[in-house]
Amino acid sequence: MSGGPENSQTCWHLAVALAEHATGKVPADETPARDVFQVSTISDLAGGVLDGDTPYAEIMRHGDFGLGTFNALDGEMAALDGRYFHLHADGGITDVDPADLTPFAAVTFFRGDARVHVDLPATRDRVLAAIDATLPSEEQLYAVRIDGLFTMILTRTAARQSKPYPRLVDATRSQVQHTFIDVRGTVLGFRAPQSAGGLTVAGYHLHFVDDQRTLGGHVLDFELATGAVALDQDADLHIQLPAGRLLDTGPARDDIAGEIERAENSR
Ligand SMILES: [Zn+2]
Repeated sequence: MSGGPENSQTCWHLAVALAEHATGKVPADETPARDVFQVSTISDLAGGVLDGDTPYAEIMRHGDFGLGTFNALDGEMAALDGRYFHLHADGGITDVDPADLTPFAAVTFFRGDARVHVDLPATRDRVLAAIDATLPSEEQLYAVRIDGLFTMILTRTAARQSKPYPRLVDATRSQVQHTFIDVRGTVLGFRAPQSAGGLTVAGYHLHFVDDQRTLGGHVLDFELATGAVALDQDADLHIQLPAGRLLDTGPARDDIAGEIERAENSR
């Protein structure tokens, strides 16, 4: 799809940087572009491509906010205010080792240029519906940040997989789920249009980290008691494919969208 000057659709700019990793530092005075930088595609991840070749050291240059995973699907990543967290399947949190590699991550520089009014308390579905109702366009890409007190939050954390790697939908069947009660923290992530499905997660993809930085995971459900919802509208999605890998333009598996939906959202 293309975003010509006559429309305001998000341009899916495929910055395919084959073997072009670590091209140098961004000058300190350069204002970061208003876009999302993503490593690989959700279709590849869904298909069992669970090892990538991009170190977090490189990803950290492209954003202070975002989410992802690690090679072998060894946990979840949440980045907030410039700090990158590695959420482990055993429930622990450590800082991301910049040398860690990832098969999928998406980050941006979050500014929070729009506030969304939500009548609280509210369930996940009501919060997300309130966000949807305020979007200037369903066809844009947004970063979403929800800070507050969650009376309930259900998360899962991917567990390290062994080769031969399963498809994502099978790997996430063995996911570890946690329900946290009355916890303060931040739900963060992205909302992408349905038309971007396959490249990234269509709809909402959200991760959580608590204020104490002691727990978190990939968000399946929540109830928000008090808090604030902020949005960033991002212009472009830049996708960096692993070295030597081209964007798969072959016929997709019939149910790839369904597999991604189940892998990301089913309990
Ligand atoms: Zn996730």
